[in-house]
Amino acid sequence: MSKISILPDILINKIAAGEVIERPASVVRELLDNAIDAGAAHIEIEILHGGKKLMKVSDNGCGMSRDDALLCFERHATSKIRSEEDLFNITSLGFRGEALAAIASVSKITLATFAAGSGAGTKIEIGVDHKKETSDAPPSAGTTIEVRDIFYNTPARRKFLKSNPTELSHIIETVMQKAFAYPEIGFILTHNNGELVNAPSAATLEERFAQLYGEELAEEFIRVGIEERGMKIYGFVSKPDFTRAGRSQQVIFVNKRPVKNSTVNHAIYSAYDTLIARDRHPAYFLFLDIDGTKVDVNVHPAKREVRFEKPDEIHRMARAVVYKALNPGADLSMMTSEISYSGFRNTPVHFPVSFDNPVVNEQSAGIFPVSQTDIFSSGFAQNVQPFFYVGESFFATVTNDGLLIIDQHAAHERIHYEKFLKKTSIETEPLFLPLRIELPVKEYKLVLHHKDLLNSLGLDIEDFGGNNVIVRSLPKELSKADMKGLLMDVAACILEEETSGIKDTTEESLLKNIAARIACHKSVRGSEQLTNEELSKMMYDLDKCDEPGRCPHGRPTRIHLTLDDLRKMFKRK
Ligand code: ADP
Ligand code: MG
Repeated sequence: MSKISILPDILINKIAAGEVIERPASVVRELLDNAIDAGAAHIEIEILHGGKKLMKVSDNGCGMSRDDALLCFERHATSKIRSEEDLFNITSLGFRGEALAAIASVSKITLATFAAGSGAGTKIEIGVDHKKETSDAPPSAGTTIEVRDIFYNTPARRKFLKSNPTELSHIIETVMQKAFAYPEIGFILTHNNGELVNAPSAATLEERFAQLYGEELAEEFIRVGIEERGMKIYGFVSKPDFTRAGRSQQVIFVNKRPVKNSTVNHAIYSAYDTLIARDRHPAYFLFLDIDGTKVDVNVHPAKREVRFEKPDEIHRMARAVVYKALNPGADLSMMTSEISYSGFRNTPVHFPVSFDNPVVNEQSAGIFPVSQTDIFSSGFAQNVQPFFYVGESFFATVTNDGLLIIDQHAAHERIHYEKFLKKTSIETEPLFLPLRIELPVKEYKLVLHHKDLLNSLGLDIEDFGGNNVIVRSLPKELSKADMKGLLMDVAACILEEETSGIKDTTEESLLKNIAARIACHKSVRGSEQLTNEELSKMMYDLDKCDEPGRCPHGRPTRIHLTLDDLRKMFKRK
């Protein structure tokens, strides 16, 4: 008897589904791709219970004949490519003919479709055990697909689904990205019968941006565009003073397909260069329209990555277009030759570590272990010590036995982080004029869903309808913070925590992460210089912290160079 056997189709499909269909949002992505490929002018998406119960996508595209409808659930059944040649010049979103087969293998499906010229429409139902039933449907143009009970027959995968709000957030993200890429198509998204997105066909990309993310947010971005050798790069990049704590609002579209791409990412970051702080991130929506023969889209099961024929050319163009937008009037010819690919964020480190025997490391002088607080508790903090700035964001002082250097921002973050976390010392301030803040719908939903948690951190937030929240009171420390930016970062943090975290993310760890984000918003930016008294107070407050040696992200807050270290550096020991 041979050990090897060919797997049954059902199992093959389930294996394929494992790669293509990760979560409800993947189903929505595939159905939207199909509707767009079918030339739909209008697409409606109806979701129940975060997509776990129902995902229904209706389009007014070309529809399918009876024969095609019967074939479309077969594996490798596609109308989009026919030959190998086609595979290397893809002009549609789909091409592998595997999505519907994959979806049908892990859920229950109802399809209703009608193509002009067919006598009747077709309805196909695929239920438990993959039984297919076919009947007539009304001859109304287009296709409607309902997907129910995702992963009902693969409990191991159903278990990995996150909470409904988290799954819904991924769906919202998917719909927004598709809608952004196709402004001419009208999109409506509802969840449990409530409307979340309503974006009628838009004349311009700007109009679509405002429909999706709100006028207020659109104001924070700069429009960019370049066309060269048959390639177009265009879209929106955030103004340098609108930065994010994470990379959640960075989307690159290659031929309208949202992808992850390190070449383009790198190009964009290098264009921002020193315009934004090193621990902050730009937001961007950048489109690359490129000849189908010059890019390979068949490199990732969920088509999340692409490969460029000439990545250097893409890098140069992407960098140039962003650089030009951020530095109007700059001489571009200078820029390309001056900053090399590898020079990415290569700011020199102002620290004497370049001796042949570097002494600045964790063990000797470098970073203070939490317990080693002797010099800090020696009372120097109470007396006003002369501090002096080293560059814009470090300050230093002389101690009994050496030199202490502090990272102002990191120290401040630690202090505020613990304040927020301990809640005890937050002074909440009711706002004389409550703040109304318009958020993108995903962030709006997430923030409201966690408003009790935010409340416990001193942020009193209420729903105001239409993607607006009202902030009625907030911690005194945040009175000058950019509240929209803060809430967007908090939403990104919630989603990250719930998606990548262990299934039962403890409220505790979410709270810690949110507190860190809030602390970051409050904390003094590099350029703000403080008085001697303020610095002294900061040292005192830092000393009071449970973990004074590190900022909430784990970076050191202070470095002590002892006389001993100095002696070693100067080779006197
Ligand atoms: P692919 O999109 O890669 O071709 P799918 O499994 O997603 O594979 O779809 C299989 C085929 O079913 C498509 O090639 C298309 O011909 C047809 N199809 C699927 N969805 C639609 C739709 N909404 N409207 C018209 N035709 C569709
Ligand atoms: Mg498809």
